[in-house]
Amino acid sequence: MSAPASNLTIDADRLWSSIIETARFGGTEKGGVRRLTLSEEDRQVRDWFRAACEAAGCTVSVDGLGNMFALRPGKDMTKLPLGIGSHLDTQPTGGKFDGILGVMAALEVVRTLNDAGIETEAPICVCNWTNEEGSRFAPAMMGSAGYVADLPVSDILARTDAEGISVGAALDAIGYRGPEEVGARKFSGFLELHIEQGPILEAEGLPIGVVEHGQGIIWYDGRISGFESHTGSTPMHLRKDALAALSEIVLAIEGLAKAHGPNAVGSVGEAVIARPSRNVIPGEIAFSGEFRTPDAAILDALDKALQTQVKEIAARRKVDIRLDTIWRKEPTHFDPAMTGAIAAAADRLGLPHRPIVSGAGHDSFHLATVVPTAMIFVPCKDGVSHNELESAKPEECAAGANVLLHAVLAVAGGGA
Ligand SMILES: [Zn+2]
Repeated sequence: MSAPASNLTIDADRLWSSIIETARFGGTEKGGVRRLTLSEEDRQVRDWFRAACEAAGCTVSVDGLGNMFALRPGKDMTKLPLGIGSHLDTQPTGGKFDGILGVMAALEVVRTLNDAGIETEAPICVCNWTNEEGSRFAPAMMGSAGYVADLPVSDILARTDAEGISVGAALDAIGYRGPEEVGARKFSGFLELHIEQGPILEAEGLPIGVVEHGQGIIWYDGRISGFESHTGSTPMHLRKDALAALSEIVLAIEGLAKAHGPNAVGSVGEAVIARPSRNVIPGEIAFSGEFRTPDAAILDALDKALQTQVKEIAARRKVDIRLDTIWRKEPTHFDPAMTGAIAAAADRLGLPHRPIVSGAGHDSFHLATVVPTAMIFVPCKDGVSHNELESAKPEECAAGANVLLHAVLAVAGGGA
């Protein structure tokens, strides 16, 4: 009857077909996908996903933020379901894999269990989270933020896009404001498969990354006030050059991140000289900066060291520097039992793996604040993502989906 669960593998061709088939919803000439959240293309892929899940025997429901839940019953319906999935929306010039792989692989897990006649102990719930990308409506990871009550639902529904259309109106326009109360759906845990969106796995030739941490982030807004004066007639020792001061800050951020590596990163992404002119010493500069690291203590240390260095630079150069922390997000630490299940699944399948840190944000970061959560990464070509050129090979996608399958069997119960 049923195949032994220990030898079970997903249907790699069927998974690949799902990815290619849905890529036509918003497909671009360059082979990417433009599927902004709650757009007509998003409705099309949601309809496809709903039909596919129902055909696979799942009951699909939608909550008030358009988050979709496809429930596959388990033997013991008193147990909470294990959530698996990701997101189906893309960037304006996005690829076929970011988010999509995680949803299609979760669907493929259900189809594989169906074909093998395996009923897991706990139910399984395939999820499609609304607006992970944050491109049409800010912030990113909006559906999962509402789900874990990181943001009030009323606040989210009122957010507008560039044309003034609210999230609520956009949900209504595509018929995806569902009746289920946001956050009412409970899980025992959550697993998400995703492309790495970075270069590490490819460079090391490894098929699987076990995501153990997500970066903590600190964002700064800064302003430097020096004194505008003639570049030709002002002696060097009398200058109050805001740009020279900024240059030191840029190097301080870079140096601090390097000193706290390998997982700490830091940069200045914006700098604007007020009233720039080639023969005026810059007197006023606004800039932004950031650090990211998976270690809260290191985030503290970077912040403290930068503040100290900025004070020293200001005093020595006789300029005023304001450095305001405008946002701080604590690092995410995924659940050791869940990461252990992923590593064990990869071992069982003979797939080499390494622990990895996620530099990008994911819905799983929100889920991790309420239930045991972890992520599986697979390589993508040249680490490129948020780009139409984003690419992953069929066998790389299949390897990730197989690890997801065996992690699901271990966590939901049903493995041999
Ligand atoms: Zn994504």
